[in-house]
Amino acid sequence: MIAREQMFEMYHFLKEHVPGFENSQLIYSAGEIGVRESRKIVGEYVLTQEDLVACTKFPDRIAAGNYDIDIHNPAGSGTSHYYFAPGTWYTIPYRSLLPLEADNLLVAGRCISATHEAQASIRILPIVARWARPQAWRRRWRTMPAWRPREADVAEIQRILTEQGAFIG
Ligand SMILES: Cc1cc2nc3c(=O)[nH]c(=O)nc-3n(C[C@H](O)[C@H](O)[C@H](O)COP(=O)(O)OP(=O)(O)OC[C@H]3O[C@@H](n4cnc5c(N)ncnc54)[C@H](O)[C@@H]3O)c2cc1C
Repeated sequence: MIAREQMFEMYHFLKEHVPGFENSQLIYSAGEIGVRESRKIVGEYVLTQEDLVACTKFPDRIAAGNYDIDIHNPAGSGTSHYYFAPGTWYTIPYRSLLPLEADNLLVAGRCISATHEAQASIRILPIVARWARPQAWRRRWRTMPAWRPREADVAEIQRILTEQGAFIG
């Protein structure tokens, strides 16, 4: 309800104050509000803000990123940013995709094992899409039907990802 009120405030502001919006009409909004963060696994490694800021290059890295750590203050006082210097990046370890309490599950996307602060950077689409590159995983699964994610040969996964053009840092 608050978001809808804000949407109308924004709409009226644009219409009244920004040239070009005089004849605009609000015709559509999403049925549900988008949620930035929900459930996450607790995995073999919990990725932290400190890891990101230190641009840690994990030995079992399967993705890289350098989008800024932008934290939206829930109290509404604004957004804080930590920007990475151009040409620097952090990496994401394979262990953060492995839930501690499940043996047959590999998790990809914003629900990987990471703190609230780390997720503020890793959640963006170009980064979450990288570790989901399906061919790499599929090729591995095909060769070993009974394969369990925890037993993966990470060096081989890194090799396949790199071969497919992924930058894993
Ligand atoms: C309002 C908002 C604005 C954003 N803006 C940007 C932006 O500008 N740029 C950017 O890079 N990122 C943006 N993000 C972040 C980014 O969109 C998400 O972090 C990213 O999409 C997460 O990807 P995901 O694959 O982990 O999850 P999702 O994209 O949420 O995908 C999960 C999928 O699983 C499906 N699903 C759920 N349960 C089941 C089930 N039981 N069975 C089958 N399917 C199921 C869902 O329908 C969904 O399609 C934004 C996020 C929000 C909420």
